[in-house]
Amino acid sequence: MLLTTVPDYHMHTPRCNHAIGDVSDYAQVAVQLGIKEIGISDHCPMPNGFDAEWRMAYDQLDCYLDEVEAARTRFSSDLKIRVGLELDYVPHHNAWLQKLSDYYDWDYLIGSVHFIGDWAFDNEDYLEDWQNKNINDAYVAYFDTVTESVQSGFFDIIGHPDLIKKFAHRADLDNTAVHAAQERMLQAVKQADVALEISSAGLRKPVAEVYPHARLLARAAELDIPFCFGSDAHAPGEVAYGMERCMQMLDMCGVTSIHAFEKRQRRALSLR
Ligand code: ZN
Ligand code: FE
Ligand code: FE
Ligand code: ZN
Repeated sequence: MLLTTVPDYHMHTPRCNHAIGDVSDYAQVAVQLGIKEIGISDHCPMPNGFDAEWRMAYDQLDCYLDEVEAARTRFSSDLKIRVGLELDYVPHHNAWLQKLSDYYDWDYLIGSVHFIGDWAFDNEDYLEDWQNKNINDAYVAYFDTVTESVQSGFFDIIGHPDLIKKFAHRADLDNTAVHAAQERMLQAVKQADVALEISSAGLRKPVAEVYPHARLLARAAELDIPFCFGSDAHAPGEVAYGMERCMQMLDMCGVTSIHAFEKRQRRALSLR
């Protein structure tokens, strides 16, 4: 059974050039499923045309916000619609992150690592680059970048926290360096008191697993780290995708709450 009280906080709009459907289409699906709360979190603009084909442009922020506001009005009796951004963390970009963070009174900001240095490791166009990589080293570099993103202080939610596995390149999770990098990341999340996203997006990717993997999830639960749910929907039909599976995994780890955000204030919702 779908837990209709669980908010789905990760969905996109066509402004990022790789999603379909208006905000009202996503909202309509949520209403049909009986879900009470969603959040739109499209890919943020970046400066100087960086990675422009995979994200909205800076001058689209206003129409993005207007569209969410219009859907909010239209569905106000059935659905809460929150608004945020999926912000890319790349080192030395803090002035840009500050500018986006200050642009609007967001409900939450998701921090995502899609780049290790200038390597877009989760982009199919750069899949070949994996051939020259040591997988364990790539995982360590990835988790260290996530740790840095957590410590930057810009984010409320850490998106798809082991995205590095997307194409099913599997590190040895018992490798000392990999294990330590994951642990550093979780300790940083705990220290910064931010939420970790449990994301069903990985189920739709070659890895065919929820982000984060079961052991990482169990350790996060042990540290009492708060969780948010995200489908990372890039089409209305993906709203709440895999939610039951994610909630089952949380339940198996003894997690009894999921978190909601409004104007960057976090609140626990009971899963029982
Ligand atoms: Zn996307
Ligand atoms: Fe992402
Ligand atoms: Fe996303
Ligand atoms: Zn994403």
